Amino acid sequence: MSTPSHQHDLEYQQVPLGAVDTPFQVSADAEGVTVTGSCPRCHGHSTTTIPRGMAGTKGLFPWSKAKPPSEAEQAALVVSETFFCECGFAHADQPEILFFVGCGAQWELKPNSGSTP
Ligand SMILES: [Zn+2]
Ligand SMILES: [Zn+2]
Repeated sequence: MSTPSHQHDLEYQQVPLGAVDTPFQVSADAEGVTVTGSCPRCHGHSTTTIPRGMAGTKGLFPWSKAKPPSEAEQAALVVSETFFCECGFAHADQPEILFFVGCGAQWELKPNSGSTP
């Protein structure tokens, strides 16, 4: 394992990183889709759950209450989201009001190669 360690020295900064290649694990259940991985900026562990039926998602949650979304649905959802660092660490210069406690990075995930229709 050669995971880079969490860069605690980084100051909070809102940095749009664009689409990244960082490997993230995606899991889904009836509650929503959870994306887990390391922040591409500070390398802190970041977990984002996209709740089923979250407001403002433009009907991207068509799956039924009883069963989790298919892998294709998960993939489509994940690439449509913008992720924010949620490493939970109090990076320097963090604003007082913060929706996501992290380093301020935001990114999108590149579509998984291999699952191209
Ligand atoms: Zn971060
Ligand atoms: Zn961090």
